[in-house]
Amino acid sequence: MKAVDLLFGDLASLLSHVIVLVIVTLMFVISLRLFLDRRKKGYMSMTFSVIFVGIHYLLKIYVLLTALDTSLTAYVLLMLKIVSFVLLNFGVYQLYNRTHRKQYIFFYGLIIMGFVVSILHFSVPQMYSGTIQQVRLLQDIALELYVFVLIFLCFYMIPPYIGQQAKYQWALTIFFLIQTCHLINVYMYGNEQIWLTLAGNILPIVFYFLLFIMLFDRVVELMQAIYNSSITDGLTRLYNRKFFYNRVSQYVGRHLPISILFSDIDNFKKLNDTKGHQMGDDVLKQVAQIMKEEAEECGIAGRYGGEEMVVMVTDPSVKMEAFAERVRSRIEKETIVTASIGYSKYKNGVSAEELIKQADEAMYKAKTTGKNKVVKYA
Ligand code: GH3
Ligand code: MG
Ligand code: MG
Repeated sequence: MKAVDLLFGDLASLLSHVIVLVIVTLMFVISLRLFLDRRKKGYMSMTFSVIFVGIHYLLKIYVLLTALDTSLTAYVLLMLKIVSFVLLNFGVYQLYNRTHRKQYIFFYGLIIMGFVVSILHFSVPQMYSGTIQQVRLLQDIALELYVFVLIFLCFYMIPPYIGQQAKYQWALTIFFLIQTCHLINVYMYGNEQIWLTLAGNILPIVFYFLLFIMLFDRVVELMQAIYNSSITDGLTRLYNRKFFYNRVSQYVGRHLPISILFSDIDNFKKLNDTKGHQMGDDVLKQVAQIMKEEAEECGIAGRYGGEEMVVMVTDPSVKMEAFAERVRSRIEKETIVTASIGYSKYKNGVSAEELIKQADEAMYKAKTTGKNKVVKYA
């Protein structure tokens, strides 16, 4: 076997198709898994589309191996290309959006338009009498040009609604190149231009690889979001009690010189009763934001209970008295409530639970001695 065959011949096409099939199979496994796991209709188009791509490429391999190159197989391949392309792009759209009837009409409309355009495919032999080759070239031209329409529509309509826009537009650009190379090769060189053939073998691999990466990144993004929501509190977006406690345990376990700040909003029940629960929630968010900003560079902030928020200060250079006082005064100035604050420093032999309890006790002392003040655990 010559190297030329490996790069430009049927063997190269076969190899390219097989690689695409492998990538598409991986995409199928991921999107099916997503669909079964989350039961969201959105992941179904992706699953369907990769099945169509799979069938498309299996048929391509079959045609290649059996040299079954008839007008009908060409038509079926072309329609598979169009249907799978539309569904793939629909799938990408749905990875990021809920779909309503409008979108179904748009995407399925594109597929139906494809079938409408293919009327030309069947009317050419009646209208035009040339050589078989000429007739076949004419038959396919309308559908091949329709692919360009699809590429442009997707390029301009979909990116505003999805993440990973750059990757997506690169993928579409590559698909555009694939289609362009294919048409120039077929219509100008009788499919004999070896460099265009080479591009036709390599570019689809790049295209499907990019789509695979997009799908994969989306899965990672979704998992990240699930993890984030499992460690944070929905209202304030601070870390929840469990995560906060685990973090404190880790630091205590390594005997690191941390401090705990424990705050409790003053007379919060009254605020809820007089101004309503919604107002209460808004104030909680404001106080949480202050906690987050103050903790940003020296530790982590968490929501320990209803209106109890905590900070673990891990930076030993922070002066706790001044830190706590700044938090207290910011709450007083920037919100309509005040807070009582206690803090405690880690000493050898103290457990995470005890350390937090000490800060809580100091806070309680602040409550019982007038509120809106800072007390250090003694
Ligand atoms: P003190 O100054 O002694 O702390 O008085 P307090 O009213 O703040 O104390 P208490 O612990 O009795 O009341 C806390 C209130 O916080 C009770 C509850 O209605 C309210 N609360 C707890 N979680 C939430 C929440 O997520 N949203 C709102 N709006 N209120 C909450
Ligand atoms: Mg309380
Ligand atoms: Mg309170």
